[in-house]
Amino acid sequence: MLCPHCWQQVDRNAAVCPQCGGDLSSDARDYLEKVITSLHHPDALTQRRAAYLLGLIGDVRAVPVLIEVLHDNGFDPFVRAQAAESLGILGGPSAQPELQAAASNPAESVIVRASARTALATLSNNENRVDAQSSNEGTPHGATVER
Ligand SMILES: [Zn+2]
Repeated sequence: MLCPHCWQQVDRNAAVCPQCGGDLSSDARDYLEKVITSLHHPDALTQRRAAYLLGLIGDVRAVPVLIEVLHDNGFDPFVRAQAAESLGILGGPSAQPELQAAASNPAESVIVRASARTALATLSNNENRVDAQSSNEGTPHGATVER
């Protein structure tokens, strides 16, 4: 996940940011809730930024709400496409079948389908990377996010 104070990559389980000393236990949680709330902002660009940030923050508690956005036609297709891409980053057992459903639905918006396919590729790349790193546990910063 990213530290909400200094935006450095930090371990998901850290209570204090090793880079800036910021509190990650309660602030990070409040921050996640703020970003999730922004998904329902009236402006589609703000919604899209929120969906993007949820992928960057890297907290799997955002997965259920991103799945809701992915399937909710009330959202702009670009917001739903961004939700798909963030689901690809966050992963988790529930993300894969939902992305598969969106990617293979012929009635789905083209941009949402394309992003769902990209996200599925990201998911399988990350799974391979986790397998490769399983002998590497205990390193100070854990897995890094490529961007
Ligand atoms: Zn920090």
